Amino acid sequence: MSDKTRKSLKKLPVGVQAQMMSLAHAALENAHAPYSGFAVGACVLTKDGHLYAGCNVENASYPCGTCAEEGALAAMVSSGGKKKLEAVLVMGAGKIAPTPCGACRQRIAEFGGKDTRILVCDEKKVQGLHVLGDLLPKTFSLKKPLKKT
Ligand SMILES: [Zn+2]
Repeated sequence: MSDKTRKSLKKLPVGVQAQMMSLAHAALENAHAPYSGFAVGACVLTKDGHLYAGCNVENASYPCGTCAEEGALAAMVSSGGKKKLEAVLVMGAGKIAPTPCGACRQRIAEFGGKDTRILVCDEKKVQGLHVLGDLLPKTFSLKKPLKKT
């Protein structure tokens, strides 16, 4: 993150950040991670102020597992549609603060922009603040919807 970006990056209101951490932690505690043993929770904040949480759901067939961010985004969409993201918080169990995997960066890009804030935290505190444009500078996107066949 450049110094200019860092200076222009507004911190989330303390209450909102605390609420995101609380929801992500509750989701983390419900994670289904019997194979890796690594529980993850996530919470997304939309520009209109709604919060949605998710957790990782592993599967015996490993590629079938889903990430916490994926669950949070699915909750957002299933609750009423395509929202614009203000921030995404990802929380790892214990003292691990994971950044979103590559696939989730692309998933976040579907609803966010280069300035979407990504907060990475452990169970106690935020350990890092990024913007999506730094984590995924060359986002895949389609400018126009594909023609229906
Ligand atoms: Zn992921």
